[in-house]
Amino acid sequence: MKSEEQLSSIEQSSMRQAHTKDDREVFWLAVDSRPIPPLLAAQGVTAPLSIEIPESPIAYLVPVAAERLGNAVRELRRSLGEHAYLVIATEKLSGGWIERAIALGADDVVDPTSAESIAICLARTRRALERGRATYQQRGHLALERDYLQACIDNLPAPIFFKNAEGIYVGCNVAFATFIGRTPDGVVGRSVFEVAPEALASRYQEADDELLMRGGIQVYESEVRHSDGASRHVVFHKAAMQGGDGCARGIAGAILDITERKMLEARLIEAAERDPLTNAYNRRKFFELADQIMRRAAGEGQRLAVAVADVDQFKLINDRLGHAEGDNALRLIASVLEDTIGEGNVIARAGGEEFYALFPDASIDDAERIADRMRVEVERSCRQAALSAVAGTVSIGLAGFDPLEETLDEALKRADNALYLAKNSGRNRICVAA
Ligand code: GH3
Ligand code: MG
Ligand code: MG
Repeated sequence: MKSEEQLSSIEQSSMRQAHTKDDREVFWLAVDSRPIPPLLAAQGVTAPLSIEIPESPIAYLVPVAAERLGNAVRELRRSLGEHAYLVIATEKLSGGWIERAIALGADDVVDPTSAESIAICLARTRRALERGRATYQQRGHLALERDYLQACIDNLPAPIFFKNAEGIYVGCNVAFATFIGRTPDGVVGRSVFEVAPEALASRYQEADDELLMRGGIQVYESEVRHSDGASRHVVFHKAAMQGGDGCARGIAGAILDITERKMLEARLIEAAERDPLTNAYNRRKFFELADQIMRRAAGEGQRLAVAVADVDQFKLINDRLGHAEGDNALRLIASVLEDTIGEGNVIARAGGEEFYALFPDASIDDAERIADRMRVEVERSCRQAALSAVAGTVSIGLAGFDPLEETLDEALKRADNALYLAKNSGRNRICVAA
């Protein structure tokens, strides 16, 4: 309950307004904790009348002519917003007018000549303000929490985003915005079609639609372009979010950059399957590829050809030019063999100065022609590289075989025997196994 003194002070203020502006018979008591809005000033607010509620909420006494009441309530409500407590102070409002004023946006009506009416009104006002303040504080806490969570994700290096069920971004961190070359404000409220090129956006939208429909999580790798222009290997980790009613609420996603890992993987794969000196496939990779090729050929009833190529008198190269020059010669010969063997055929360094070749789609005659081209090219390249004074030719043993009847090892053994014949009959030539 307000003190008599305070109530009479409100009354006196009301009366003062009434007496100084006698053409205005209706008074407004608009209570708000915000600064006085311009519209209120325009309405003729004289002085804010403080009422005794902690943290100084302000009561506005607004004189308004009776015939303008309807418009004024509407305008004032629009100007103050929904959280303001709007009180009409009048002696003379009829029951119908009171109803209409409340419908237009007033919260309460008070008789400024009745201390009891003002006391009741102030009690209601205080309750409303307390509720408002509690809501405001709650909002403040929520805002703090939201800022804290935003700071958390902003400090994470992985791009993170959230979308609603309509595909509109409702949140993201700085890393995500940077990734796509925008500010967070330039992302939130937009669809993927507004932030990514059309073709890419359609792909993402399709994946999102599927996830929303199916629920659960979605993990997939993709190669994408960062806003800095560089291509990145990434893994998308996305989860469909459901509301309490089981309906899809949206998607949360994180992008993990695996470019470094992919590069390391590629280097490891290369190290596992390539010979470090010549960069040709190694023996292991040859048998791995041969295994696949032979399965396919066996299924299709096809024959294959295999070859063993050995550098002639390589020991002489090492002896006369040194081991380093021997290495260079091996590199040269390996690259010539690789360049001349032709698409679909396989060449690998079997060890030392010996190479294996496999011809999946060639008849033995075709394989012999290809092998001869390889032999000729090695000779020509080595001559050009001034190695021919010492050596720089290859001998090749060739064997055709049916993968259903013979193993690769058996075919290689026959090719090796043919190579032995080539060596014994003068080198720099091809012998085909019987
Ligand atoms: P042939 O015509 O009968 O094949 O005579 P060759 O001298 O080529 O045969 P041999 O088997 O007697 O000698 C092969 C040489 O190849 C011996 C070895 O030191 C050399 N060699 C093997 N691997 C490498 C390598 O990686 N680098 C160098 N520089 N030499 C190698
Ligand atoms: Mg040799
Ligand atoms: Mg050898």
